[in-house]
Amino acid sequence: MSPTRVLVLNSGSSSLKYQLLDMRDSSRLAAGLVERIGEQTSRIRHTCLATGDSREHGGPIADHDAALKAVSQELSRDGLGLDSPELAAIGHRVVHGGMFFTEPTVVDDEVLAEIERLIPVAPLHNPANLTGIRTARALRPDLPQVAVFDTAFHTTMPESAARYAIDPKIADRHRIRRYGFHGTSHAYVSRATARLLGRAPEEVNVIVLHLGNGASASAVAGGRCVDTSMGLTPLEGLVMGTRSGDLDPAVIFHLARVGGMSMDEIDTLLNKRSGLFGLCGDNDMREIRRRIDEGDAEAELAFDIYIHRLKKYIGAYYAVLGRVDAVAFTAGVGENAAPVRAAAVAGLEELGLAVDPELNAVRADGPRLVSPAGARVAVAVVPTDEELEIATQTYALVGAGANNS
Ligand code: ADP
Repeated sequence: MSPTRVLVLNSGSSSLKYQLLDMRDSSRLAAGLVERIGEQTSRIRHTCLATGDSREHGGPIADHDAALKAVSQELSRDGLGLDSPELAAIGHRVVHGGMFFTEPTVVDDEVLAEIERLIPVAPLHNPANLTGIRTARALRPDLPQVAVFDTAFHTTMPESAARYAIDPKIADRHRIRRYGFHGTSHAYVSRATARLLGRAPEEVNVIVLHLGNGASASAVAGGRCVDTSMGLTPLEGLVMGTRSGDLDPAVIFHLARVGGMSMDEIDTLLNKRSGLFGLCGDNDMREIRRRIDEGDAEAELAFDIYIHRLKKYIGAYYAVLGRVDAVAFTAGVGENAAPVRAAAVAGLEELGLAVDPELNAVRADGPRLVSPAGARVAVAVVPTDEELEIATQTYALVGAGANNS
């Protein structure tokens, strides 16, 4: 029988997240996380989902090579080791694929070189993703490694949405354009929303709101992305946990010229010390809601700014799409924060958008509608599953599924 397991790796600069899936039924066999790689206080948390057994170990893990070996050891203890003949491929999350990678791609030397060439536009992410791929390749050189790009789903955007209004020669020289991120999630959620409506993805127009710590919106017409809120980098668009999202670019000149800040300081301010955190000192929506319930005006203003921006994007993407069948909320905030969903569509009844308070308050794991029965536009909560999407795309490319796709 051909191998059916896919290991999904998501390598950050100091972390390695993984899941092992069996693609016969898309079930999860194991999952875990190595944190603080390169420090004395590294940790690995591993769960074998077949047995429900969880383990956690501390102690220094020097680099990604050591981290992957530690993962392999944990998997072996559950009889799921990387040397298993049942492993079909390793699927890697790669943040930036530029315009070059429009689809999941089997990694070879040329692919690695292209991901490396994209480092200037993704300095925080692509180096860590590359390290993960190189490490996995060294450990299992015989196994197909597949890169699944966060940007790929957005490569269908028309030039009118993807280009900034600057001199195209300068833009092209520096590869400046809207790339968009969270594409694996937007792809998965837009398809799952169509399924929830009982329709084919080609038939429906969906606004996807991926609201996690990072947050982005996308307009998906008949299964293809036509606009998205993140741009050259994940800084643009919605108000996020620690990122400002949209602002007048002249704020940056002003902070440099008048505020005397360096470019690095401004970069840190806008990426790490802004958004909800910058506005009120908290980036967790649970904490912000708790503070609002206690009458905290600072938290309330942060929430209002977050919602105002979200509502503007819903309106903008409604106009971009012309006809909207569904608005889908996903990721940590979108899936869990009923007040965010209610506030985001409040007052948009003329656009056919509303939530039913009772349905919106229900806590559940699966995809569900929260709009009133018979609503012109469905409002849905659709849990994202980026690992499953990466595994599915990987397996479709290299597994037994490749023959059918
Ligand atoms: P990441 O972008 O890190 O993948 P997630 O999609 O996991 O983020 O979202 C994390 C965020 O989700 C948290 O920072 C918090 O604001 C929010 N969140 C998680 N659970 C809840 C909840 N029960 N209620 C409200 N917000 C929540």
